[in-house]
Amino acid sequence: MAVKRRKRKNNNLRIWITTVVVILVCIGAAIAVGCFLGMEEDAYDPSAPSPDQVQSPMAEDTTTDTEKITENTEDLTSDTDDSDTADTAETPGTSDDWNLILVNPWNKIPDNFEIDFVELADGHKVDSRAYPDLQAMMDDCRAEGLSPYICSSYRTYDYQKGLHDRQVNKYLSYGYTEEEAYAEASKWVAIPGTSEHHTGLALDIVASYYIVLDESQEEMPEQQWLMENSYKYGWILRYPNDKTNVTGIYYEPWHYRYVGKEAAKEIHDRGITLEEYLLEK
Ligand code: ZN
Repeated sequence: MAVKRRKRKNNNLRIWITTVVVILVCIGAAIAVGCFLGMEEDAYDPSAPSPDQVQSPMAEDTTTDTEKITENTEDLTSDTDDSDTADTAETPGTSDDWNLILVNPWNKIPDNFEIDFVELADGHKVDSRAYPDLQAMMDDCRAEGLSPYICSSYRTYDYQKGLHDRQVNKYLSYGYTEEEAYAEASKWVAIPGTSEHHTGLALDIVASYYIVLDESQEEMPEQQWLMENSYKYGWILRYPNDKTNVTGIYYEPWHYRYVGKEAAKEIHDRGITLEEYLLEK
């Protein structure tokens, strides 16, 4: 009897220990999954480009702002204000020059937009007219002993839509209404059609040994060289730290945009953005 009782005790103890172990493993797994999901936005995924975090500082209400975006940049005069300039061929603050095309939260890329690409060795695509200056910039950066790396380039509308839908679904799973989920998602991922990556003139360039899209990217020597010199090659840092209220996009010390050498020099020297440059043009 004593042996049996001890056996039963041992069995009970074993069951108890097994239960505790299973619970601990479950908690560990849950934490690991949580960390993984939490890191998803910051960690670099070679197949996923930068989030191009978008907020709508010019209007408190993102949904209203989103609804105001029309399909064609030429119809956008009523978008920013109610002025009566729709008859003019060119909307104030935009340009017909290919290198000065404005795509931002308030200006969608035109439906019929076409690009003649050059495909880089790593599969990234860039507008063929911006390619020679890009190559020169990368060559000169490397000649300084630096190691720049292009981690995102041209994106199709469908690809951007996939990114945006995924973000909307995330907020729906949190219990947001569809309208709320759309508005919240759009603060972090550009609404399809409003990402500058659609133009083939935008690139995310990072240090090859630090492929993380966060603010500490600005501390990398590659980034510092690019911020100082990219304008000489016609490229600008498109979303500076203190210009979110103008660009509608959070600081991105990795996103470069080709605007041509003349515009890039003025934008760089005066510390302005493409939006500000176009408004004065
Ligand atoms: Zn980007």
